[in-house]
Amino acid sequence: MALFGNLSDRLVDALGNLRSKGKLTAADIDSTVREIRRALLEADVALPVVKAFVAHVRERALGDEVNRALNPAQQVVQIVNDELIRILGGDQDRKLQFAKRPPTVIMLVGLQGAGKTTLAGKLAKWLANEQHTPMLVAADLQRPNAVTQLQIVGDQAGVPVFAPEPGNGVGDPVRVARESMRIAEAKHHDVVIIDTAGRLGVDEELMGQARRIKEATNPDEVLFVIDAMIGQDAVATARAFQEGVDFTGVVLTKLDGDARGGAALSVAQTTERPIMFASVGERLEDFEPFHPDRMAGRILN
Ligand code: GDP
Repeated sequence: MALFGNLSDRLVDALGNLRSKGKLTAADIDSTVREIRRALLEADVALPVVKAFVAHVRERALGDEVNRALNPAQQVVQIVNDELIRILGGDQDRKLQFAKRPPTVIMLVGLQGAGKTTLAGKLAKWLANEQHTPMLVAADLQRPNAVTQLQIVGDQAGVPVFAPEPGNGVGDPVRVARESMRIAEAKHHDVVIIDTAGRLGVDEELMGQARRIKEATNPDEVLFVIDAMIGQDAVATARAFQEGVDFTGVVLTKLDGDARGGAALSVAQTTERPIMFASVGERLEDFEPFHPDRMAGRILN
């Protein structure tokens, strides 16, 4: 899959230009670093992240390790690869935290359209395959279709959905979430995935509701779901959710789209939270745990 199409091509080209050169001069390094900088900026990577990236690459590339390398160009590729891994979260994969005493509670937050509901189904299916017994909870009661949509993905995933009774009018999502804890315990679901409401923009009422759901359910993980295509807005949106509810991890969605890469490459660094999963399509199977090292490899290939 062509992840980060243009960014990937530009980085590969910039590094490819070094290959024909053998020994590298400071000027060679400088021009490569400039190309990398431009490629990152055009992919909408946040400026502070770009600056740090470029500074680290330059410093290492001008140092002894490249000078001494049998293949200096390859060594620069390695440095860029290391730096990509660093900004994507480092080489330790962060696994989901499970509660010592079930149910483990995973709450999903994010803007409307980010892909939360779809992600809820994907995560449920993935957990079910891993021998868990998840339950989905419809705490997105803002959007008329949200409950039905969650029921559809629940059916597809073969995972039950806890939702307010139809016909009750608009329910109270905090109550639904709280009630779901009791049901999960009674029915022996070891993981509860709570889908929460998202608005088109960040808003205080929504944040307040998410905070109350969080207080009521004391989640083991709060996952911030973000559309990789939102570009420059990624950092501000992530910060607003971090201040509003805080979260323990990030899920990137729509990485299959024509993503410029900016959100993916900015969000882990600016929030200091790990990217834990990636959603790469509309089908429930289009989902994978996120590995910074593999992602870096895919960007540079
Ligand atoms: P929510 O409002 O955050 O619950 O978002 P939804 O789960 O309803 O998703 C919004 C739209 O994005 C739907 O049309 C999904 O099919 C689509 N979508 C979700 N995840 C992905 C993904 O990884 N790739 C693609 N291409 N589309 C996705």
